[in-house]
Amino acid sequence: MKLISIVVPMFNEEEMAPLFIKAISEVFANIPNYDYEIVAVNDGSKDNTLNILLEEQEKNNKIVIVNLSRNFGHEPALFAGLKTAKGDAVIPMDADLQDPPEVIPELIKKWEEGYQVVNARRVSRKEDSFLKRKTAGMFYDWSDKISNKVKVPQNVANFRLIDRRPLDEILEFGEKNRVFRIQVPYVGFKVCEVLFSRPKRAKGVSKYNPKSMFSLAISSTISLTVRPLEWSIGICIFLAVICGLSWISQATFFVLKLTNVLNIGELNLWFWLIINVLLTVGFLILFVIAILSQYVAKNTIETLARPAVIIDEVIRK
Ligand code: UDP
Ligand code: MG
Repeated sequence: MKLISIVVPMFNEEEMAPLFIKAISEVFANIPNYDYEIVAVNDGSKDNTLNILLEEQEKNNKIVIVNLSRNFGHEPALFAGLKTAKGDAVIPMDADLQDPPEVIPELIKKWEEGYQVVNARRVSRKEDSFLKRKTAGMFYDWSDKISNKVKVPQNVANFRLIDRRPLDEILEFGEKNRVFRIQVPYVGFKVCEVLFSRPKRAKGVSKYNPKSMFSLAISSTISLTVRPLEWSIGICIFLAVICGLSWISQATFFVLKLTNVLNIGELNLWFWLIINVLLTVGFLILFVIAILSQYVAKNTIETLARPAVIIDEVIRK
């Protein structure tokens, strides 16, 4: 019998954990020719998530608990789960039922047709807030523009089915800045998608805030491409042209002054022009440094070569 692993990172999901497990068990009760495991990663929850998972495990031996040594964040927690999962196919999901379990049989069906990655794409985000929809839209447009050969599918988050073969490739990656939704299109293989509409979070609150969303956007960009680094060359050329023009204007100014063509009023004009040019130049330099610093920062983390996540223990029944 083929084994399907559901991987679910949980941070303070005491309300959702039992509901999630119930929903998944119901789905698999309807497809009895597949075995399943629920790899629940407790990402250093401050609430009762771990105890509730242990209780649930008493009733259902399909649950594997991966207890992290502290809160590492959604992506590292997902990675810990993916490493632990033993399935022939693995489906990462959020605990809040925003990735509807009803879609699972469709994902498996496509997998059986021979697709190794089955993306679940959101057709509607009506239930997300205006800000979240807008920023997510901007992020997908942006990643589409900057990526080269790797095409990041629009409106596909972590929810998808991935076959053991591409998953093993991803687990081999040495990087610490792991962004699953970028790694999957990177490895390629036979890909298709199914559509679903995204419901509201069933219970509890979102663990993402504007800051963590911005940081995910930066991590994704860096994981996707080094293109912004290349832009800095273009910006520098532009900068050189501006500096050249500024020098030429100053030279012209001196010539005009020497030949008594210019009076004081015009001199003031020139003064402000030069100030503006300097400000622009300053801004552009800072902009290039800002891009560089992001890459250098991520590089520093890679150089430290610390593990992306630390599992305290894996609890099986
Ligand atoms: N999550 C996690 N660690 C964190 C933050 C979130 O494991 O530090 C989990 C969370 O429990 C949920 C999933 O990541 O299962 C997605 O989080 P959430 O639903 O809050 O994000 P949103 O849907 O608002 O993007
Ligand atoms: Mg959610």
